Amino acid sequence: MKHVDPYRDPALCRELAQAIAKLCRRPVRFMELCGTHTMAIARHGLASLLPPTLEFVSGPGCPVCVTSAGQIDQAVALAGLDGVSVATFGDMLRVPGGQGSLAQARSRGGDVRVVYSAMDAVDLAQAMPGRRVAFLGIGFETTAPTTAAAILRAQALGLDNFSVLCLHKLMPPALAALLDGPDLGLDGFLCPGHVSTVIGAAPYQIAAERGLACVICGFEPVDILAGALMLLRQLDEGRPRVEIQYARAVEAQGNPRARAVMNQVFAAVDAPWRGLGWIAASGLAARPEFASFDAAKVFGLDLSEPPEPPGCLCGQVLRGLARPPQCALFGRACTPESPVGPCMVSSEGACAAWRSYRRED
Ligand code: SF4
Repeated sequence: MKHVDPYRDPALCRELAQAIAKLCRRPVRFMELCGTHTMAIARHGLASLLPPTLEFVSGPGCPVCVTSAGQIDQAVALAGLDGVSVATFGDMLRVPGGQGSLAQARSRGGDVRVVYSAMDAVDLAQAMPGRRVAFLGIGFETTAPTTAAAILRAQALGLDNFSVLCLHKLMPPALAALLDGPDLGLDGFLCPGHVSTVIGAAPYQIAAERGLACVICGFEPVDILAGALMLLRQLDEGRPRVEIQYARAVEAQGNPRARAVMNQVFAAVDAPWRGLGWIAASGLAARPEFASFDAAKVFGLDLSEPPEPPGCLCGQVLRGLARPPQCALFGRACTPESPVGPCMVSSEGACAAWRSYRRED
């Protein structure tokens, strides 16, 4: 843990918390745009170190949570097809759609396999020429380039039994949709560290131009407290801008090579977000020259969207409009063992974070 320990130093955390308390002289509301921040704030009990005037709210930063119920249904439909193996990351298994979850599809006999990377799914297709392997491409700009690279590899190998159900989402259009939506009373954004390694700092400029402080932040307690202090200093100086706290991983220009691979294979398309509805140019689909790798086209999947589960407030939780305990189902009908909405399933979900670490609420 020697590389992590300096970022968990209790004395440094206390020092940062004191500086935050001194600077936070009025009620301030920051949104974390990454599910990993949501979970880290809860897991490390950071709210207990912060003054009551400083509030962190979750945003649409958990890729599993923002995957729409209709997209889950497409994955479930794939798992029900003869000769098709669905390859997915493990945290998608129990996410409920309108037609149940992938775990339920597997219990009905569907071939659903957990993989750890998109390349694993390509290997699977190579090892099983008699089956068609459909990989669920999920995540923001952090993972989309790896899915694109997997398609390029499958093409180079001449595989005709590999495809991708592309559920990837793009962060900047979601940020723009939040800014154009109802006033959320925000003072700033804790911007995602992982996504920003690829997209860089420029996409957050639109928020700074509207007077919101922005800090691209790492995920350890010292990172998050330092990020909060940087946000407060921007407000104190009256100079909202985009700063990088997570400089050990993020460069201002991001990763142009990763973006180039992503843009070579995918084009932006309108996409459905759980809780936010359809957002223009916020998803990715294979370009026409890669259409034979597009599972939605190859298998002619139904792209309609079912209604959200009755009573589930995920849509409001994902926009910072409600806290998980405000949902009447929280901890009652909806638990990690029996989730109603995706925010209770994902390891980055706000409801799962509250349920695991903040039971006092
Ligand atoms: Fe949805 Fe469950 Fe969270 Fe309520 S507690 S918002 S039902 S995931």
